[in-house]
Amino acid sequence: MTTEIIPTLHPIFAERVSFRNNSVHGDLWTILDGVCDPELPGLTLWDLGVLQDVQQSNGVISVVITPTYSGCPAVDAMSEDAIKALNDSGFDQVEVKVVLAPAWSTDMISPAGKQQLKALHIAPPNDDNSISCPVCDSGDTQVLSEFGSTACKAMYRCNHCMEVFDYFKKL
Ligand SMILES: [Zn+2]
Repeated sequence: MTTEIIPTLHPIFAERVSFRNNSVHGDLWTILDGVCDPELPGLTLWDLGVLQDVQQSNGVISVVITPTYSGCPAVDAMSEDAIKALNDSGFDQVEVKVVLAPAWSTDMISPAGKQQLKALHIAPPNDDNSISCPVCDSGDTQVLSEFGSTACKAMYRCNHCMEVFDYFKKL
């Protein structure tokens, strides 16, 4: 069985792209593209959907982020890394605002972010709730545990290539 993958831009992500493109602080967004989730190497805060806005007022830059799954401890590290990235680029006054509403959802993950999850052998959430093996793309997978390495992931096994992998739960 082959599954044809038709790339579509989820409307929530398309809205994020449009919002970002309309920002006057494109340079700041670009700097923040260098900041990755501490637990997901190569997955930027933007690609993960955590980075919501960058504002500048009276010389102070405000980075607005929304944590992923609630209680995610990574938010402190993300905040520090975002501040450091801007400091290193010459912006001294930076604050991070953590906003809980609207809540983060896996629909905010960019297509590049989903590719990077696969590269890390983590199955990204799909719109149709199917769970494909991140290694061989087979849809013949079974759940081993509802909780994988962290609460936001479930553990699956691919019945085709036998890879055991984490599935990033849809939220
Ligand atoms: Zn597989």
